[in-house]
Amino acid sequence: MLYQRSSQLFAEAEKVIPGGVNSPVRAFKSVGGTPIFVKEAKGAYLYDEDGNRLVDYINSWGPMILGHAYEPVVNAVIERAKKGTSFGTPTALETEIAELAVSMVPNIDKIRFVNSGTEACMSAVRLARGYTKREKIIKFAGCYHGHSDSFLIQAGSGAVTFGSPNSPGVTQGTAKDTLLATYNDLQNVKDLFEANKDEIAAIIIEPVAGNMGCIPPAEGFLQALREVCDANGALLIFDEVMTGFRLAKGGAQQLFGVRADIVTFGKVIGGGLPVGAFAGRNEIMNYLAPVGPVYQAGTLSGNPLAMAAGLEMLKALNSDEAIFSRLEEKTAYLEKGIREKLTTANLTYTINRRGSMISVHFDANPVTDFKTAANGDNETFKKFFHGLLKEGVYIAPSAYETWFITDALTYDDLDFTINAIEKVAKEL
Ligand code: PMP
Repeated sequence: MLYQRSSQLFAEAEKVIPGGVNSPVRAFKSVGGTPIFVKEAKGAYLYDEDGNRLVDYINSWGPMILGHAYEPVVNAVIERAKKGTSFGTPTALETEIAELAVSMVPNIDKIRFVNSGTEACMSAVRLARGYTKREKIIKFAGCYHGHSDSFLIQAGSGAVTFGSPNSPGVTQGTAKDTLLATYNDLQNVKDLFEANKDEIAAIIIEPVAGNMGCIPPAEGFLQALREVCDANGALLIFDEVMTGFRLAKGGAQQLFGVRADIVTFGKVIGGGLPVGAFAGRNEIMNYLAPVGPVYQAGTLSGNPLAMAAGLEMLKALNSDEAIFSRLEEKTAYLEKGIREKLTTANLTYTINRRGSMISVHFDANPVTDFKTAANGDNETFKKFFHGLLKEGVYIAPSAYETWFITDALTYDDLDFTINAIEKVAKEL
């Protein structure tokens, strides 16, 4: 495959955009080479500026759960755009999507829409602090909750890919209120509560981690966190930016049967437009301005184009619950295929999967937390990534990311991918 035009576009972009990209992980820095510039996408495929077709396993990092250019979403956006793109007033559309989201997700009475997952998590933490009148939070190493200051402490995703899990620019004053725990280590969490009695406002967690590769919670871990929070008067925040409307209609709360106090959303909830949201029961959500004292706002929050896209996406997911089992089956099929090919090629690997989130680590040991995720062989990953790209399969350009499976993938696409993996694995 040729990437001449992408290379040229990247060189031009680098002159006027830092690193040529508007979000670091897109730059291919950890795998090397030139990022692909995409011209258009449909269903399971991306079409780049050089005319290559790529089977897409990133899917805009999660939102395109039903495939690219999903027609009901596209049509809704076109129709809304004709009527005006932003008013800065309430619209009936916002209530419609809020009602639908509240009906789909357990344990939430109210939801507020923002413009990104970062904003959702940042606001959720402020709300938890305001509500509990405490300042500290517990976050897990390797989890990523967006790029707001409190979260760039041992953060996953692009932050760790670029070797800056603790970003310069985050003040020590902010950092001291973020307590770090090890994913899947309950005793560690209990010790933090013990050492910071009555000071911890909330635990924030990705209920299935997707930003250090995919790492599912150990059996009973989420339930135990619920109990620790209850015993200590702290709130449990589920960051469902990746898992929400993906692992089940009601997200990880439904899948694991564990109640969170605040849930954050992004990605799928906006159908590919810039949307995030946070939600909870009345007593917590009523702490927000204008009814309560915790301030949070946004000029474009609840934007009509974004709400129209999100509404169509949620309607589609709400009307066909089989989508989630279909996604699970497709991902399980892919997992089986990858295992067969990597085993035949005598490679050392670990595959983690939960529902339609899956990742391949090139290490033999179980990957259960940030430390074990970091043991993966990045040189092998780089070759794997570039080999697949050459075969027309596009996975995330970092070992610290999950793959996102879309319902638009057919079994032919999956077989095409498994065959590509067979070819690439032989050369690793
Ligand atoms: N939380 C999680 C779990 C995420 O995966 C991400 C983004 N990958 C975010 C928060 C931040 O969302 P955004 O990039 O929309 O700000």
